[in-house]
Amino acid sequence: KSFEDFFLSEEMLKALRTVGYKRPTPVQAESIPLILAGIDLIVQSHTGSGKTAAFAVPATDMLEANPGRIEVLVLAPTRELAKQSAAEFERLGQYKELSATAIYGGASYETQLEALKTAQIVTATPGRLLDLAKRGDIDLSTLRIFCLDEADEMLSMGFREELNAIVDFLPKERQSLLFSATVNSEIQALAKGMLYYPEYISL
Ligand code: AMP
Repeated sequence: KSFEDFFLSEEMLKALRTVGYKRPTPVQAESIPLILAGIDLIVQSHTGSGKTAAFAVPATDMLEANPGRIEVLVLAPTRELAKQSAAEFERLGQYKELSATAIYGGASYETQLEALKTAQIVTATPGRLLDLAKRGDIDLSTLRIFCLDEADEMLSMGFREELNAIVDFLPKERQSLLFSATVNSEIQALAKGMLYYPEYISL
Protein backbone atom coordinates (compact mmCIF):
# COMPACT_ATOMS: atom_id res chain seq x y z
CA LYS A 1 0.00 0.00 0.00
CA SER A 2 1.13 3.54 -0.65
CA PHE A 3 -0.43 6.92 0.25
CA GLU A 4 -0.99 7.44 -3.49
CA ASP A 5 -3.55 4.58 -3.40
CA PHE A 6 -5.99 6.72 -1.42
CA PHE A 7 -7.88 9.67 -2.81
CA LEU A 8 -5.74 12.26 -1.05
CA SER A 9 -5.09 15.80 -2.22
CA GLU A 10 -1.76 16.93 -3.71
CA GLU A 11 -1.32 19.16 -0.65
CA MET A 12 -1.62 16.14 1.64
CA LEU A 13 0.77 13.99 -0.43
CA LYS A 14 3.24 16.87 -0.32
CA ALA A 15 2.83 17.21 3.47
CA LEU A 16 3.41 13.47 3.89
CA ARG A 17 6.64 13.76 1.89
CA THR A 18 7.75 16.77 3.96
CA VAL A 19 7.01 14.96 7.22
CA GLY A 20 8.83 11.90 5.88
CA TYR A 21 6.04 9.32 6.00
CA LYS A 22 6.88 7.05 3.06
CA ARG A 23 4.16 4.45 3.37
CA PRO A 24 1.07 3.99 5.53
CA THR A 25 1.34 1.90 8.68
CA PRO A 26 -1.20 -0.98 8.95
CA VAL A 27 -3.67 1.07 11.02
CA GLN A 28 -3.42 3.91 8.49
CA ALA A 29 -3.91 1.59 5.50
CA GLU A 30 -7.11 0.22 7.07
CA SER A 31 -8.54 3.45 8.52
CA ILE A 32 -7.84 6.12 5.89
CA PRO A 33 -10.19 4.84 3.14
CA LEU A 34 -13.04 4.18 5.59
CA ILE A 35 -12.72 7.61 7.23
CA LEU A 36 -12.64 9.28 3.81
CA ALA A 37 -15.84 7.36 3.00
CA GLY A 38 -17.51 8.99 6.00
CA ILE A 39 -17.97 5.80 8.03
CA ASP A 40 -17.94 5.73 11.86
CA LEU A 41 -15.08 3.58 13.16
CA ILE A 42 -13.89 1.78 16.26
CA VAL A 43 -10.17 1.15 15.90
CA GLN A 44 -8.23 -1.06 18.25
CA SER A 45 -4.63 0.14 18.08
CA HIS A 46 -1.70 1.05 20.29
CA THR A 47 0.38 4.19 20.71
CA GLY A 48 3.27 3.98 18.28
CA SER A 49 1.13 2.39 15.54
CA GLY A 50 0.70 5.67 13.72
CA LYS A 51 -2.87 6.03 14.98
CA THR A 52 -2.74 9.84 15.19
CA ALA A 53 -2.04 10.18 11.47
CA ALA A 54 -4.62 7.41 10.81
CA PHE A 55 -7.32 9.95 11.69
CA ALA A 56 -5.39 13.19 11.11
CA VAL A 57 -4.59 12.44 7.44
CA PRO A 58 -8.17 11.83 6.26
CA ALA A 59 -9.77 14.36 8.64
CA THR A 60 -7.38 17.10 7.51
CA ASP A 61 -7.90 16.24 3.88
CA MET A 62 -11.67 16.59 4.21
CA LEU A 63 -11.33 20.26 5.23
CA GLU A 64 -11.06 23.48 3.25
CA ALA A 65 -9.39 26.44 4.98
CA ASN A 66 -12.11 28.03 7.12
CA PRO A 67 -10.38 29.75 10.05
CA GLY A 68 -12.38 29.88 13.28
CA ARG A 69 -14.93 27.33 12.16
CA ILE A 70 -14.39 24.23 14.31
CA GLU A 71 -14.81 21.16 12.14
CA VAL A 72 -12.71 18.53 13.89
CA LEU A 73 -12.64 17.77 17.62
CA VAL A 74 -10.25 15.23 19.10
CA LEU A 75 -10.53 14.33 22.77
CA ALA A 76 -7.44 12.97 24.49
CA PRO A 77 -6.86 11.81 28.07
CA THR A 78 -3.74 13.94 28.72
CA ARG A 79 -2.49 17.38 27.77
CA GLU A 80 0.67 15.81 26.27
CA LEU A 81 -1.42 13.73 23.90
CA ALA A 82 -3.65 16.70 23.04
CA LYS A 83 -0.56 18.78 22.22
CA GLN A 84 1.04 15.99 20.18
CA SER A 85 -2.15 15.49 18.15
CA ALA A 86 -2.47 19.23 17.46
CA ALA A 87 1.15 19.27 16.27
CA GLU A 88 0.51 16.30 13.97
CA PHE A 89 -2.56 18.03 12.46
CA GLU A 90 -0.53 21.21 11.92
CA ARG A 91 2.25 19.29 10.15
CA LEU A 92 -0.20 17.42 7.93
CA GLY A 93 -2.29 20.51 7.21
CA GLN A 94 0.64 22.82 6.51
CA TYR A 95 -0.02 23.20 2.77
CA LYS A 96 -3.73 23.76 3.25
CA GLU A 97 -3.14 26.36 5.96
CA LEU A 98 -5.29 24.58 8.49
CA SER A 99 -4.86 25.58 12.07
CA ALA A 100 -5.06 23.22 15.04
CA THR A 101 -5.09 24.22 18.68
CA ALA A 102 -4.75 22.20 21.88
CA ILE A 103 -7.12 22.97 24.74
CA TYR A 104 -6.32 21.66 28.23
CA GLY A 105 -6.58 22.56 31.87
CA GLY A 106 -3.88 24.32 33.82
CA ALA A 107 -3.19 26.81 31.03
CA SER A 108 -4.64 30.29 30.49
CA TYR A 109 -8.33 30.23 29.58
CA GLU A 110 -7.99 33.60 27.81
CA THR A 111 -5.09 32.44 25.64
CA GLN A 112 -7.04 29.38 24.58
CA LEU A 113 -10.10 31.49 23.76
CA GLU A 114 -7.89 33.63 21.55
CA ALA A 115 -6.49 30.56 19.74
CA LEU A 116 -10.02 29.28 19.12
CA LYS A 117 -10.74 32.33 16.98
CA THR A 118 -8.62 30.92 14.17
CA ALA A 119 -8.67 27.16 14.82
CA GLN A 120 -10.45 24.62 12.67
CA ILE A 121 -9.14 21.60 14.50
CA VAL A 122 -9.35 21.35 18.28
CA THR A 123 -7.58 18.68 20.30
CA ALA A 124 -8.61 18.79 23.93
CA THR A 125 -8.72 17.16 27.31
CA PRO A 126 -12.32 16.69 28.48
CA GLY A 127 -12.44 18.98 31.55
CA ARG A 128 -11.39 22.26 29.93
CA LEU A 129 -13.37 21.57 26.78
CA LEU A 130 -16.50 21.00 28.83
CA ASP A 131 -15.90 24.27 30.75
CA LEU A 132 -15.71 26.15 27.44
CA ALA A 133 -18.83 24.45 26.11
CA LYS A 134 -20.87 25.08 29.27
CA ARG A 135 -19.91 28.75 29.30
CA GLY A 136 -20.81 29.12 25.65
CA ASP A 137 -17.22 30.01 24.78
CA ILE A 138 -16.82 27.41 22.03
CA ASP A 139 -19.12 26.92 19.05
CA LEU A 140 -19.28 23.24 18.17
CA SER A 141 -22.30 23.53 15.86
CA THR A 142 -20.13 23.32 12.73
CA LEU A 143 -18.35 20.14 13.85
CA ARG A 144 -18.00 17.42 11.20
CA ILE A 145 -15.65 14.90 12.77
CA PHE A 146 -15.42 13.82 16.40
CA CYS A 147 -12.56 11.58 17.47
CA LEU A 148 -12.13 9.96 20.85
CA ASP A 149 -8.47 9.01 21.27
CA GLU A 150 -7.27 6.45 23.84
CA ALA A 151 -10.83 5.76 24.91
CA ASP A 152 -9.73 3.07 27.38
CA GLU A 153 -7.43 5.55 29.13
CA MET A 154 -10.27 8.06 29.23
CA LEU A 155 -12.48 5.59 31.07
CA SER A 156 -9.80 4.46 33.50
CA MET A 157 -9.12 8.12 34.33
CA GLY A 158 -12.80 8.58 35.18
CA PHE A 159 -13.83 10.79 32.24
CA ARG A 160 -17.04 8.93 31.37
CA GLU A 161 -19.43 11.63 32.63
CA GLU A 162 -17.49 14.43 30.96
CA LEU A 163 -17.43 12.52 27.67
CA ASN A 164 -21.17 12.03 27.68
CA ALA A 165 -21.73 15.67 28.59
CA ILE A 166 -19.46 16.82 25.75
CA VAL A 167 -21.25 14.63 23.20
CA ASP A 168 -24.48 16.43 24.13
CA PHE A 169 -22.93 19.65 22.76
CA LEU A 170 -22.07 18.09 19.37
CA PRO A 171 -24.27 18.12 16.28
CA LYS A 172 -26.11 14.81 15.84
CA GLU A 173 -25.04 14.65 12.23
CA ARG A 174 -21.30 14.07 12.33
CA GLN A 175 -18.69 11.37 11.77
CA SER A 176 -17.39 9.75 14.95
CA LEU A 177 -14.18 7.77 15.44
CA LEU A 178 -13.04 5.89 18.52
CA PHE A 179 -9.45 4.72 19.05
CA SER A 180 -8.52 2.44 21.93
CA ALA A 181 -5.71 0.02 22.80
CA THR A 182 -8.30 -2.41 24.12
CA VAL A 183 -11.91 -2.81 23.04
CA ASN A 184 -13.90 -4.46 25.84
CA SER A 185 -17.59 -4.34 26.76
CA GLU A 186 -17.12 -1.01 28.57
CA ILE A 187 -15.71 0.57 25.41
CA GLN A 188 -18.51 -0.98 23.35
CA ALA A 189 -21.07 0.55 25.70
CA LEU A 190 -19.39 3.96 25.46
CA ALA A 191 -19.28 3.66 21.66
CA LYS A 192 -22.96 2.80 21.52
CA GLY A 193 -23.96 6.27 22.69
CA MET A 194 -21.54 8.08 20.38
CA LEU A 195 -21.14 6.19 17.10
CA TYR A 196 -23.58 5.30 14.34
CA TYR A 197 -23.33 1.77 12.90
CA PRO A 198 -19.54 1.69 13.33
CA GLU A 199 -17.14 -0.56 11.47
CA TYR A 200 -14.45 -2.29 13.55
CA ILE A 201 -10.78 -2.37 12.77
CA SER A 202 -8.56 -4.59 14.88
CA LEU A 203 -4.83 -4.99 14.33
P1 AMP B 1 1.35 7.45 17.06
O1 AMP B 1 0.97 6.00 17.12
O2 AMP B 1 0.32 8.28 16.39
O3 AMP B 1 1.77 7.98 18.40
O4 AMP B 1 2.64 7.58 16.10
C1 AMP B 1 3.89 7.02 16.44
C2 AMP B 1 5.04 7.62 15.62
O5 AMP B 1 5.02 7.15 14.29
C3 AMP B 1 5.02 9.14 15.54
O6 AMP B 1 6.30 9.60 15.86
C4 AMP B 1 4.69 9.42 14.09
O7 AMP B 1 5.33 10.61 13.66
C5 AMP B 1 5.23 8.22 13.37
N1 AMP B 1 4.49 7.86 12.13
C6 AMP B 1 3.14 7.90 11.94
N2 AMP B 1 2.81 7.48 10.71
C7 AMP B 1 3.96 7.16 10.07
C8 AMP B 1 4.28 6.65 8.76
N3 AMP B 1 3.33 6.38 7.86
N4 AMP B 1 5.58 6.44 8.47
C9 AMP B 1 6.54 6.70 9.39
N5 AMP B 1 6.33 7.16 10.63
C10 AMP B 1 5.05 7.39 10.99
